[in-house]
Amino acid sequence: MFIGGEWVPSPSGQTYDSVDAMTQQHLTTLQLAGAEDVDRAVRAARRAFQDPAWKDMNAYNRSRLLLEIADLVEDNAEELATLDSRAMGGSMALTRWFAHHAAEVLRYYAGWPTKIFGQSGPSEAGQLTYTLRQPLGVVASIVGWNGPMDALAWKVGAALSTGNTVVFKPADSTSLTALRFAELLEQTSLPAGVVNIVTGSGRVTGEALITHPDIDKIAFTGSTAVGKHIMEVASGRLTRITLELGGKSPFIVYDDADLPAAAKSAAAAFLSGSGEGCVCGTRIFVQKSVREQFADLLATEMKTWNVGDPFHPDTMMGPLASREHYDRVTSYFDVAREDGASIAVGREHGTDDGLFVFPTLFDNVTNDMRIAQEEIFGPVAAIMPFTDTDEVVRLGNDTIYGLAASVWTRDLSRAHRTTSALQAGTVWVNTWGQMTPEQPFGGFKQSGIGRENGYTAIDDYTELQTLIVHL
Ligand code: NAP
Ligand code: MG
Repeated sequence: MFIGGEWVPSPSGQTYDSVDAMTQQHLTTLQLAGAEDVDRAVRAARRAFQDPAWKDMNAYNRSRLLLEIADLVEDNAEELATLDSRAMGGSMALTRWFAHHAAEVLRYYAGWPTKIFGQSGPSEAGQLTYTLRQPLGVVASIVGWNGPMDALAWKVGAALSTGNTVVFKPADSTSLTALRFAELLEQTSLPAGVVNIVTGSGRVTGEALITHPDIDKIAFTGSTAVGKHIMEVASGRLTRITLELGGKSPFIVYDDADLPAAAKSAAAAFLSGSGEGCVCGTRIFVQKSVREQFADLLATEMKTWNVGDPFHPDTMMGPLASREHYDRVTSYFDVAREDGASIAVGREHGTDDGLFVFPTLFDNVTNDMRIAQEEIFGPVAAIMPFTDTDEVVRLGNDTIYGLAASVWTRDLSRAHRTTSALQAGTVWVNTWGQMTPEQPFGGFKQSGIGRENGYTAIDDYTELQTLIVHL
């Protein structure tokens, strides 16, 4: 683990295995941080927060440092991508995107230190009133396994640009890029303890981190269930939280849409990253008159998604991330069958498939079925017909989630009537999936609280302080 600028084992001697998603072979042995290790990391982060080397670093130098880190990530992108592909099975095309996106996110945040302002306000005679944005302190960052390197950049970039320090916990199954990232940090002049990496499970390491009395914010990306638990724990001391949680996003195709383009995008929307993405368009609503035509186009598109070894250049979808996750995803095939849905495109799974799940589209689905309501997090979607805007908005919003949506139509008015009625944090029109660090990202309803990226992240990583000075 990387604590206070040093590589340290857990004194408890507890370790766990990191496993290759493709071969299921042992990759390496990692330290399992217990409460004692987490406490050490939080204390290191607190010391760094108060250290003049960090606290008093001027905005230009903080910016320069973030740019330097971004360059190192980019220079080492191939290695970082390889580590993520091994650990979570994503194709190299996907994990290269993670690494390059991570560099861009860090560059985005490098632009902020010189642009964080308070405001001066109306003042009484003989007084001066103004506000400042103060860093929060120690941020506990916890992320899932589905985009290890980019999630890391979102969390570390936001925290560092605002002058905070971080204790970062990657998912236990995908901790390699975080550790390599820490090695890259050692090549910079980042003061010791500003970024600390603790490895281990959510139950042990994560729990110790979110319950630690000296953290000022929890920045979490993961499931809605764990997000709710974090909110409960945070209520004890009103610890600041941002939660980026699950989704069950509607992908809406009207009869006047560019159907071939919509079909290509619909396939990408639930197959990218083997469907292990929070914004996946897993409920595909198609207007009745074009239902058959669209389903044929989508079936053709789905066949172009090659499933295989993450390191093969033609592979678009690797295996699922872990045995546990594979079992969970494939269990939904039984759920679907029992609820009366049928497979329109795809196939049942044999036992000798490794952790591969092939692109699967379910038909004869109603929006109240479990496969339409629960996040499956695999390359699986449901196609459902609709009649008009009122109906598709009602169905689209009939979910506990509200992370994203995509709307396809050539009619500008219809597009805007639909988007304004959808409860979703990000809505794409005639496209899907673009995410840039300039744009705020987060969820309505049970898809989260707060936003990451964009100018709003700066608010979520600082406290507003009001000053009234008697002159
Ligand atoms: P998860 O089970 O909630 O795990 C997320 C992280 O939380 C992991 O690091 C996990 O540790 C840790 N954790 C688990 N229990 C914890 C506890 N009691 N206290 C503290 N930390 C704990 O989610 P996942 O299955 O890894 O990720 C998939 C989920 O993330 C999906 O729901 C997906 O939609 C969501 N997601 C959301 C976004 C977004 O931005 N909205 C982006 C990507 C993914 P271990 O895994 O090491 O045990
Ligand atoms: Mg996990």
